[in-house]
Amino acid sequence: MHKFGTVALIGPPNAGKSTLMNQYIGQKVAIVSPRPQTTRNRISGIYTDDESQIVFLDTPGIHQLRGKMNRFLLESAWNALASADAVVVLIDAALYAAKPHLLDKEIKPLVKPVKETGRPVLVAVNKVDRVKDKPTMLPVMAKLGELWPEAEFIPISALRGQGTDELKAKILDIIPEGPPMFPEDQISTAPVRFMASEIIREKLFYSLRQELPYTTAVEIEVWDEESRPDMILVNAVIYTAQKNHKGMIIGKQGANLKKVGSEARKEISELLDSKVHLELWVKVRSGWTEDPGFLRAMGLGE
Ligand code: GDP
Ligand code: MG
Repeated sequence: MHKFGTVALIGPPNAGKSTLMNQYIGQKVAIVSPRPQTTRNRISGIYTDDESQIVFLDTPGIHQLRGKMNRFLLESAWNALASADAVVVLIDAALYAAKPHLLDKEIKPLVKPVKETGRPVLVAVNKVDRVKDKPTMLPVMAKLGELWPEAEFIPISALRGQGTDELKAKILDIIPEGPPMFPEDQISTAPVRFMASEIIREKLFYSLRQELPYTTAVEIEVWDEESRPDMILVNAVIYTAQKNHKGMIIGKQGANLKKVGSEARKEISELLDSKVHLELWVKVRSGWTEDPGFLRAMGLGE
């Protein structure tokens, strides 16, 4: 019996969501960790073993978005939650053991909206390795039980991998049977690459402001994290359907492409938390918007 499901990871910034993803998925996904102010509202990390595949949706925006950013982003973040099979709320046990009053401020606002999604809730009480004085956890657990009576609580250390097998077992109890949706090898890096190509497309869009970007596609040709210990090397090809568009994308003496490249590199570097060397190429591929094979390769087709 193979299991497949999606799990939304939520919780205040710094609670350990990215660390938990790393723990389950591996080092490569560590770099998926977004910064708090990122406009990307969800990142997925995909765990695969012989019996199961779990797609973790990191929804970093939910806290910051509250009252700050626009409604669309907030809504789509909550939509991500609503479409998940389970919700895992990460909380920093060490923080609340020291400052239990913060539970009201940081956790209470999550309870009602999560309840309204109707998803089963697991609360991962994280960073237990940092709680030296264990009895300080008692009022925290009591308060959590009061705030979130329908949740199940699992003490973990995402960093040390303590309790994470138990948490995974609870997740597997919840998620449905189903075949894996993603090939194993695509999983760990594809989301990051996809986001990188989206960032490039976005910068192109802003640099040109015409219909042109709709007939462009971006393909990451090289993604090299091995050659240089201090930076990630990325080569991307911008495909355009029309010959005369190539010049516009490149711009006078390459000015536009340079601008797109430098803006995209900066943002990709923030996303990956690493230095990035980005090279962009422009290629004409006429009729690509009608070419099913090419569209599929670009992740744009069915
Ligand atoms: P996120 O903002 O929720 O994604 O949190 P991160 O995963 O980026 O973690 C924030 C900080 O908490 C990092 O410095 C982690 O190393 C640390 N951290 C996360 N989980 C644990 C844990 O179980 N134990 C300890 N001691 N530190 C942790
Ligand atoms: Mg994070």
